[in-house]
Amino acid sequence: MALNVIMMGPPGAGKGTQAGRFARERGLLKISTGDILRESIKAGSPVGLRAQELMDRGELVDDETMIDIVRERLLRPDAQPGFVLDGFPRTVVQAEALDRIVSERQNGPLVIVDVRVPEQELVRRLAGRLICSKCGANGEPPKEGAAASTACAKCGGELVQRTDDNEQVVLERLKVYERATKPLVEFYRDRATFRIVNGAQALERVAQELDTVIEDAALVGAKQPQTAAVKAVAPEKARA
Ligand code: AMP
Repeated sequence: MALNVIMMGPPGAGKGTQAGRFARERGLLKISTGDILRESIKAGSPVGLRAQELMDRGELVDDETMIDIVRERLLRPDAQPGFVLDGFPRTVVQAEALDRIVSERQNGPLVIVDVRVPEQELVRRLAGRLICSKCGANGEPPKEGAAASTACAKCGGELVQRTDDNEQVVLERLKVYERATKPLVEFYRDRATFRIVNGAQALERVAQELDTVIEDAALVGAKQPQTAAVKAVAPEKARA
């Protein structure tokens, strides 16, 4: 049975890093919608051209575009062992669409993890975050007392600040998160496979907690009928 995970949480919660690690260790497909959009921008594709302005303002790209991107990835053969979603869903409409895709695939339950970090800590982390301009990986945090490296540890590319990590855009992204994405907690919280993890701890500690709660939720989910999670969403909540 496939292991299907949603890594939820505000920008800067560390969900991208943890989603990457978890997917690598378990042989699952990691799907980061932010990374896909940044690649589309680099490639100059029509989606990238549409997304760039919205992303630079900290706003969300439209649901239809995002749902199409994720549907296409989830139906590929390499998603069959399972997936870890980072940055999707970000709205209730996207979450409803994901439920439909997961129930069409009929392959394992959906485990939802909400990584929580206080807002002050998020702003601090995002202001100092660097990513590789070549491969998109996050820069390693500097060792205590050492200067931050300017080269990517993975590919040697130059580390730069994301254009949407400047203070003004970060505040807008946090506002958008409160307004559009936080209602998702309400959407998922009554499911037997919903879990919360404290993201304001050392990376290794967060990783351990995540592993434990995901394994536990997957066991619980496996015992439920495949459609139970979708049915747990009251039909009147679902939009036409
Ligand atoms: P992220 O790398 O996840 O922080 O995403 C960066 C930006 O990409 C966001 O601020 C949005 O503009 C856009 N984006 C990524 N994922 C989504 C999504 N699921 N829905 C709408 N916009 C998204």
